[in-house]
Amino acid sequence: MYPGTVLYDVPTTFGDYTPRNYDRAFLGPVTMREALYRSRNVTAVQAYEKISPQVGIDYAQRLGITSIDDRDIGGLSLVLGGFTYGTKPIDMAQAFGVFANQGIKTPLTSILEITDAEGNTLYRHNPSPELVISETTAFMITDVLKDVSTRGTASRLYNEAGGRPIASKTGTTSDNRDVWLVSYTPDYVLSTWMGYDIQKMGKVDSTAWPRRMSGEIMKQVHAELPVRDFEQPQGLTQEGICSVSGKLAGEHCPSEDTTSDWYPREHAPSSRCDIHVTMEVCAETGLLPAEFCPHLEERVFIQIPEDDDRNWDEILTEEDRLAPTETCGVHTERPPAPVGLRLSSSSSGDEVYLSWNYPDRQMKGFNIYRQTEGGERIKLNDELISAQAFRDENTRPGITYQYEITAVNEGGIESLPLLGSTTTDEPGSSPGRTPEENDNNDDKDEDNDNNNGENDNNDGENDESSNDNNNRLPNDNNRDTLHNNSGDNKDKKKEDEVS
Ligand SMILES: [Zn+2]
Ligand SMILES: [Zn+2]
Repeated sequence: MYPGTVLYDVPTTFGDYTPRNYDRAFLGPVTMREALYRSRNVTAVQAYEKISPQVGIDYAQRLGITSIDDRDIGGLSLVLGGFTYGTKPIDMAQAFGVFANQGIKTPLTSILEITDAEGNTLYRHNPSPELVISETTAFMITDVLKDVSTRGTASRLYNEAGGRPIASKTGTTSDNRDVWLVSYTPDYVLSTWMGYDIQKMGKVDSTAWPRRMSGEIMKQVHAELPVRDFEQPQGLTQEGICSVSGKLAGEHCPSEDTTSDWYPREHAPSSRCDIHVTMEVCAETGLLPAEFCPHLEERVFIQIPEDDDRNWDEILTEEDRLAPTETCGVHTERPPAPVGLRLSSSSSGDEVYLSWNYPDRQMKGFNIYRQTEGGERIKLNDELISAQAFRDENTRPGITYQYEITAVNEGGIESLPLLGSTTTDEPGSSPGRTPEENDNNDDKDEDNDNNNGENDNNDGENDESSNDNNNRLPNDNNRDTLHNNSGDNKDKKKEDEVS
């Protein structure tokens, strides 16, 4: 296990033991680094179980913890400090000193030398250093514990200690009855405990006290020393990793789930994240696209590999990040196209009036598109049009415009277009305005023919009412695209006759 190894901060029961986090919350997948600097209990127990309590106790004793009782062996709560007799600040200083000292343990002593009255040396402390953990392991632990002092459970310590690299670890028992902080720099190790030997005397009112005290002491003992960082040993490499899968970060891993961390060169992860995937989904429902989903969006999801039998519903805190397996049920049908398009242009050719019909049903509005020969297809409306009529005030005389009207339903799905085109009048060439019938039905369509008489556009004023009249035209027969006959002389004549 390394700082980038991913553990799962989720409700977990180990036999009959269910550890809780101090904040009663669960973070889901976390790297060991984050688990440690945020002091997650559940993941600590997971890691302890993974390496086995025996290995954990063995390391603790080699580092210098002397108070482990036989009754402590085997229980998982030991990893959270559940000792029968507790532990001692001096043992903590000894153990953390190993991390500060590149993995080498030098037994602590308070007597360095004894001399007699004549100056003869009677005793001299003879240190017997011993390599307890590897240099790279010590460095990785220290690097993680530096985060405790900057962004973890003792995040103010870095500044309070005078702004120098400082590693630390907090510890509290229930109700703040014991409040610990062990901190170290390359120069000093400081172990602090606050509490009452006689428990009924109460508790420490804040975990800030040992931190403030440590910060003040560290600042003073380092006052004359240059700021220096812990030395990075050979043999380590830094890799970009995915903090959900714990593998090398892949192209689909979102940035908030990507981090980088240290590995011994020979143990760096070699496979890429295979659980973050990018999928196209319906933007409204977030489900797999149905045939008519109006807006599709690429989103990143967690796709659980088939051979992964972990309970990811529990592991992930936001379930909606799991890749959808259902198809959108909202956007399954396209609304019918509008019908009965009528087009007419102003006598000066600088305006075109459109009107159409729509069967009575749930509808959000209409879109209008326009195209000229060889030109671009442009959308004329910014927002959906709720009326069944439109005035295009941006036309030029003597040009043929093709229009498309589409309907948009409540689900945001756009219908097939109703098509029609008209050639605008040229001033002078066509005295008086002649509205054109852009009726896609062929001449057999009686409804439209019957209504021609109502289409009272012939006064040249082009008032709104003419459009309104058109809107009322019943024209349910005409669902297909319209072939408009605007260029057709016969139609012009017909209109001329009307006028
Ligand atoms: Zn990933
Ligand atoms: Zn949809």
